[in-house]
Amino acid sequence: MRSLTCIVCPIGCALSVEGEAEVALSISGNRCPRGAVYAQEEVRAPKRVVTGTCGIASPVLDGGPRRVPVKTLQACPREQINELLADIYKTRVLLPVKAGDAVITDWKGSGINVVAVRSLG
Ligand code: SF4
Repeated sequence: MRSLTCIVCPIGCALSVEGEAEVALSISGNRCPRGAVYAQEEVRAPKRVVTGTCGIASPVLDGGPRRVPVKTLQACPREQINELLADIYKTRVLLPVKAGDAVITDWKGSGINVVAVRSLG
């Protein structure tokens, strides 16, 4: 049996998962169906929302920000997170940028978009 905490909403139900990833899983402890979906995905193909920072392509004024905080709008398969982070860190953003502006669109054809989380410039 595997224990997980559902992270889909703030309630954080304690989930118990029985079975292997290749066969049917028995899930308990979830207060709603979203917890079962989360547990299935977490056991079979875990994904995470990724946060990081991009560089700034415009000239940086003294005391000004040197990086733009960003996050993915879609969760990224765990085994691809390091590759995505490397691409995020080497991306340079032209200021001004608004919170929600895309800085990477459809990363490597995965459907993952990376957006600024803060307005700068
Ligand atoms: S199982 Fe449902 S109620 Fe419980 S934490 Fe997950 S989303 Fe929230």
